[in-house]
Amino acid sequence: MIAAFEYFAPKTVREALSLLAKYKEEAKMIAGGQSILVVMKQRLLTPEYLIDIKGITDLDYIKYDEGKGLRIGALTIHRAIEKSPVIQKHFGVLSEMEGNLATIQTRNWGTIGGNICHGDPAGDPASVLIALKAKLKLASSAGERIVEAEEFSKDYLEVALEPNEMLTEIQVPTPPAHTGTAYEKLMVMKGDMGIIGAAVSITLDSKGGCGDARIALSNAASVPLRAKKAEKVLIGKTINNGLLTKAGEVASTEATPPADVHGSIEYRREMAKVFVKRAAQLALERAKAA
Ligand SMILES: Cc1cc2nc3c(=O)[nH]c(=O)nc-3n(C[C@H](O)[C@H](O)[C@H](O)COP(=O)(O)OP(=O)(O)OC[C@H]3O[C@@H](n4cnc5c(N)ncnc54)[C@H](O)[C@@H]3O)c2cc1C
Repeated sequence: MIAAFEYFAPKTVREALSLLAKYKEEAKMIAGGQSILVVMKQRLLTPEYLIDIKGITDLDYIKYDEGKGLRIGALTIHRAIEKSPVIQKHFGVLSEMEGNLATIQTRNWGTIGGNICHGDPAGDPASVLIALKAKLKLASSAGERIVEAEEFSKDYLEVALEPNEMLTEIQVPTPPAHTGTAYEKLMVMKGDMGIIGAAVSITLDSKGGCGDARIALSNAASVPLRAKKAEKVLIGKTINNGLLTKAGEVASTEATPPADVHGSIEYRREMAKVFVKRAAQLALERAKAA
């Protein structure tokens, strides 16, 4: 059973932040509750104060501007991102990723902010956001700061939020011309947490070579893992099948995946090879067509 707590339901960011400033480590936020209620039921988390931010409608938005890029409010539900026409048009990989995340019920209530702040390295959005060079806006009553999505996860279920801070916005820059991005995850059934996931973004230069590449893996380490050595395999080269295979192999050596009932360390490493190659192939095709 969940331990007793005092409950607050602020309607503004300011109100939520002043509660956080007051109760700090003794407080926890709840957005959709899809992850936090599980850990509270297990008593891995026993906050004295629960701050329910689901009613802060100001943080539920999707805004796009060609210059500024995409801005997603932290309380936007997964389903809204999946179904957003503007995201489908300009950031298709985000919509695709969301379409394979959990069940429709969970997507209809769980928020992108809650997913990222939960800090599960098996989560899908973080890797895709790292590949897209996203930034996160964190707020406290003292002000705001921006962190790279890549810097946000610190360890398993640990993120770079101070006790008085909350995530308010996800910022995704508009990718350069001739960029393609793809996310592939290994699932037993559609909507399962990935046994392994790979997000790859490739930007082609004017001669068709690889000007830039980003590779990030889900469930391959204690944090969403940027595979920088694998990126170097592609950058500056004309990508061919051999290089895609090599990028997958190198990414797999960078991974330190967990072992569980769904797969051993060795199996996940093998699958990292396959899924990095698969995502990179698709990203390349998309970059050529962009
Ligand atoms: C059946 C099931 C299947 C799932 N499958 C997948 C899957 O395939 N892929 C995947 O990626 N995820 C999956 N998930 C996880 C799911 O996506 C997350 O549980 C959900 O997105 C979390 O969002 P939430 O709003 O419910 O967060 P909550 O559970 O309310 O909060 C999670 C954590 O984030 C903190 N938090 C929430 N919002 C903020 C904020 N704005 N600022 C600071 N801290 C905040 C909370 O304090 C808490 O620590 C699955 C979950 C379920 C239940």
